[in-house]
Amino acid sequence: MQHVVRHPPSSALSCVPRIRDAGARIGGPNPYPSMAIPTVVLLPLWSAGHLMSLLEAGKRLLACAGGKLSLTVLVMPPPTEQLAAEVQGHIRREEASGLDIRFVHLPAVEPPTDFRGIEEFLSRFVQMHSPDVRAAVAALPCPVAALVLDFFCTALLDVSRDLAVPAYVYFTTNAAMLALMLHLPALHEEVTVEFEEMEGAVDVPGLPPVPPSSLPKPVMDKKNPNYTWFVYHGRRFAEADGIIVNTAAELERSALAAIADGRCTRGGRVPAVYPIGPVISFEPPPEQPHECVRWLDAQPPASVALLCFGSGGFFAKPQAHEIARGLECSGHRFLWVLRGPPAPGERRPTDANLAELLPDGFLERTKDRGLVWPTWAPQREILAHAAVGGFVTHGGWNSTLESLWFGVPLVPWPLYAEQHMNAFTLVAAMGVAVAMKVDRKRDNFVEAAELERAMWELMGGSEEGRKAREKAMEMKAACRNAVEGGSSDAALHRLAEQLYTGAV
Ligand code: UDP
Repeated sequence: MQHVVRHPPSSALSCVPRIRDAGARIGGPNPYPSMAIPTVVLLPLWSAGHLMSLLEAGKRLLACAGGKLSLTVLVMPPPTEQLAAEVQGHIRREEASGLDIRFVHLPAVEPPTDFRGIEEFLSRFVQMHSPDVRAAVAALPCPVAALVLDFFCTALLDVSRDLAVPAYVYFTTNAAMLALMLHLPALHEEVTVEFEEMEGAVDVPGLPPVPPSSLPKPVMDKKNPNYTWFVYHGRRFAEADGIIVNTAAELERSALAAIADGRCTRGGRVPAVYPIGPVISFEPPPEQPHECVRWLDAQPPASVALLCFGSGGFFAKPQAHEIARGLECSGHRFLWVLRGPPAPGERRPTDANLAELLPDGFLERTKDRGLVWPTWAPQREILAHAAVGGFVTHGGWNSTLESLWFGVPLVPWPLYAEQHMNAFTLVAAMGVAVAMKVDRKRDNFVEAAELERAMWELMGGSEEGRKAREKAMEMKAACRNAVEGGSSDAALHRLAEQLYTGAV
């Protein structure tokens, strides 16, 4: 086990929303004058959407605690070299930030090979790390305020219990999804057939009736261990001391109320819920503007539709051709971040070979109003640009929050994980998105004409699109108020106080 660097404390948090310094308020004088200050131990997953979100939440806690808490991040060695390199890059950047964060690298374990899906893989892989997590936490030289576990890590609640350390779950996605997962053990008993075979909609407290076709991928096949693990996590959430959710009260009042009053857990124990979001990790802008940003500089305000599909979204040639036709017919300006299928043995998309993926002449015909970007793009910077007027997105929750942060309405195109549920929530519960027909039975295929129609609505062609834009602007104001002295800031302070007083 390798202990890595402890940096001098610093109050500088670049580009983070202003967070009141509660150091003077939380817990009174430090009861550990002669010892190191209590540490909050974070256990993130390694993918950017999970790791960066939990790290950012941790950094906001640090800022809020005003020097009375430190952060320790336990790093599970990622299962592929590509992911390991990405994680190492993130760690190096954090180490250079000068904040009071200690990274502890756990020993590698042999990853499971006989798994049937990513959710099963992650849950089992994490569980295999239990002895190392236990040893690492027990060896820490300072009081431990709590373990904060990514929501795939609930098996480690046993470690926290063994060590008598408070445990919190960090839920990287939204309250709608949390309501569903907390309710899943009850649904598991009530609905004995596959959800798709049941009559009517699924009743999730706090949400409009959910069509079974909008449920997240891992619960669509009850015979798959992914489903069993989701029920397991949903059950175990209730054992945590608290659940930290990357949402704001103003975004999801109804779902949060249903969780808080016990409707999701059938009146059973409900941990304290802390909606501290939007937790978005912003980096300072680079010295030289990115090529995508330079291209946007030359476009009129709110005229460009961004198409970008997260860290895992990619398209093969038939779908790429369909998108190209839809974009061409729509006549709209667009910035399309297009990735190609993963290399053999890898999970992550490759940079797109545009000559192979796109129809002949497409780039030439659309060169005055479109840019196709074949690799990772600076999505937050792009969404922040005044030229961007709409976002066609896979609907990952980080991307969604980033879009709302800048008041950009969405067209969700769910591809994997919980994104079908997010698409439903964004359209039916939050009203910030225009619906688009995605054929789930054909690998989430979207026809060119359907994309063209949805883009026309998104860019202001229909009343529905205009309402989504208005609502997105309302959410922009709500998000900013929430973290800058409003509800999320208050939740963060309650959490800091709770962590500090719980330190053992
Ligand atoms: N992202 C980016 N550039 C890209 C694709 C994705 O910066 O080309 C970022 C995006 O801004 C977001 C994260 O990657 O912060 C994706 O997280 P999300 O939860 O939306 O989706 P996931 O990748 O976890 O499916």
